[in-house]
Amino acid sequence: MSHVFPRHTKSALPTVSHGKGVYLYDKAGKQYFDGSGGAAVSCLGHGDPDVTAAIKEQLDTIAFAHTSFFTSDPAEQLADKLIAHAPEGIERVYFVSGGSEAMEAALKLARQYFVEIGQPQRRHVIARRQSYHGNTLGALATGGNAWRRAPFAPMLVDTTHIAPCFEYHGRHNDETPFDYGQRVANELETEILRLGDDSVIAFVAEPVVGATAGAVPPVEGYFKRVREICDQYGVLLILDEVMCGMGRTGTLFASEQDNVRPDIVAVAKGLGAGYQPIGAMLCSAQIYAAIENGSGFFQHGHTYVGHPVACAASLAVLTKLTDGGLAAGVSTLGDKLQTALEQEFGNHPHIGDIRGRGLFRGLEIVQDRETKKPFDPARALHKDLKKKTFEAGLVCYPMGGTIDGQNGDHILLAPPFIMTDAHIDEITSKLRIALDQVL
Ligand code: PMP
Repeated sequence: MSHVFPRHTKSALPTVSHGKGVYLYDKAGKQYFDGSGGAAVSCLGHGDPDVTAAIKEQLDTIAFAHTSFFTSDPAEQLADKLIAHAPEGIERVYFVSGGSEAMEAALKLARQYFVEIGQPQRRHVIARRQSYHGNTLGALATGGNAWRRAPFAPMLVDTTHIAPCFEYHGRHNDETPFDYGQRVANELETEILRLGDDSVIAFVAEPVVGATAGAVPPVEGYFKRVREICDQYGVLLILDEVMCGMGRTGTLFASEQDNVRPDIVAVAKGLGAGYQPIGAMLCSAQIYAAIENGSGFFQHGHTYVGHPVACAASLAVLTKLTDGGLAAGVSTLGDKLQTALEQEFGNHPHIGDIRGRGLFRGLEIVQDRETKKPFDPARALHKDLKKKTFEAGLVCYPMGGTIDGQNGDHILLAPPFIMTDAHIDEITSKLRIALDQVL
C-alpha cells in the first residue's frame, strides 16, 4: 500500500521512471510526449544537463542559508537577470517556492503598501470570474473558480469578481473585439465605484488565462483600459504570470505583448522549469520605496525564501530562455502548432475554439458549435480526455471550465520550448486518437 496522499484517492497512477527531452517514461517502459509540462512547468523538457550541473555546483557550494542572515550569489544574480528583462518600472524581486506563494506575497505586499502610505481603509481585491491564482487561502479567495472555492467559503480575503475578457464566450455579435474589451474592462470601474473609490487595493488578472479556461488571451486594448482605470483610482495592478510567463507565450513576460505595466507581477512554473520549486513576486520601485521609507520591513516570509539551489537552477533556466534565445523561438513554433491544430480540428463538430499564444494553446470542446453550448458538466468529458490522451502517450491538461456558469471542457497544451516541428504531428495525431475515442 502506498503511504503517499495522492491527488485523487480513487485512481492509481503509474510511477514515473525518468525523463529525457520532450518525453517522460513510466516504470513499465511506456513513453509519453510531455505536451503540458504538468501545467506549463517543464519549458526546457527533461534532463537538461546545464540546469542539472548548476544545481550540483550550488549544492557543493552552499545548499541553504536563511535570508534573514544572508543573501546569496544565485539569488542576487537571478534577481538582476529577471529585472533586466522585466516590464518597465519593476525593480525588486522576492523569491518564494511556487505560484501560490508568489500570489500570497503579491496580495500581502499590495495591502501593506497602502498601510505604509496611510490608506489602511483600502482592503478590497477585485479579480475575474474566469481565473485561478493558487490554492493557499488568500490566493484561493482571489481566484474565481467556483468549484475550487466552494468547500472553503467564506473566504479570508475580501475579493469580488468581474467578467473575464473571454472573446469566444463574451463578445456580442454586433460588437468589435476592441469594443468588447472596453466593455468588460469598464466593469472594473463600475466595481471600484460600487465598493468605494478609495477602498480597493488591487485588480488581479492573468494576462493569458490558463487552467480555468485554456489559454485565453485578452483582446487588444483590454489591458490598456484596465491600466487607465487602475491609475485613475489608485488601484494596483497585479498580474499573475505564474502559468503564462517566462517565455510561454513568446515573450519573457506575457504582458509585454499587451503593452501593460503591472505594479506587481507573479511568476513561477517556467521560472524553475520543474528542476526546482521556485516562484517570484516582482514589484515596482514605487511600492518598494513605500516599504523602505516606511516600516522598512515586508511583513512576510517563508523559510525557503531565496533558496540558493532553487535560484541557481532558475538562473540556468533563465539564461537559456534569454541569452540562449529559447523564448524567442516560441512564437514561431507556437504559430505552427496553432496552424496544425486548426488544420486537424478546425472543422471538428465538437471543437468550438482553438486559441492561445506561443506554446500555450487551448482547444475548447462544445456540444454545439453554433450555440457554443458545452457538454453537460456531469459527463465530465475532460476526465475521459485526460485518460485517453494519456493512454495515447500524450500528457496534456484537460479541464472542465467554469465560465460564468457555462461549463466548457477544454484541453490545455503547453509543450516544452525545445520541441521541434516534428513533434507537432505527434501532438495532433495523439490528440486525434483520444478525441475520436471520447467524442
Ligand atoms: N496562478 C496561476 C495562474 C496558476 O496557473 C497556478 C498553478 N496552476 C498558480 C497561480 C498556483 O501555483 P502553484 O501551484 O505553484 O502554487
